[in-house]
Amino acid sequence: MTDTELMCLALNEARAAAALGEVPVGAVVARHGEVVAAAHNTRETEKNATHHAELLAIDAACRALGGWRLWECELFVTLEPCPMCMGAIINSRIPRVVFGAADTKAGCCGSVVDMAALPFNHHPRVERGLLEEECSALLAEFFAALRARRAEQKALGIPTAWQLRKMQRQQNKEDKP
Ligand SMILES: [Zn+2]
Repeated sequence: MTDTELMCLALNEARAAAALGEVPVGAVVARHGEVVAAAHNTRETEKNATHHAELLAIDAACRALGGWRLWECELFVTLEPCPMCMGAIINSRIPRVVFGAADTKAGCCGSVVDMAALPFNHHPRVERGLLEEECSALLAEFFAALRARRAEQKALGIPTAWQLRKMQRQQNKEDKP
């Protein structure tokens, strides 16, 4: 498969995340152009901060290949990796990373910091901007829909999930003797 085809698969994974109400990020680990693992963000569904698409794809690839060194693999991801995922990329010795959209808030391939250029023991080659428009559009659509939903809830006086949790915590505090 070509780079573009692999990124299309990562985009499909991102769409699967969006369908679950997750921030749409998808990742594919490939070896010699063949898919080894594919995954999408499930942070909300699994209530787990580590369930980023890249981390899940790396985990599945290690299991599929029976080893932690992914030195023959490449990672395709729709969004610039965060510090946690760049850490996993470095630790798994992935030599090449291709991402779509930049992440100005958490991206560690040049946006916030360039972890690939720091003096670690492994320096993955990073390429940015493959199918960037599609990757960004998916994220923009997701956040626009989220904002619209929140505005609607606010207009109707319905508390958000976050406000509900805050109310719950307050209630728990009051219940304590
Ligand atoms: Zn991440």
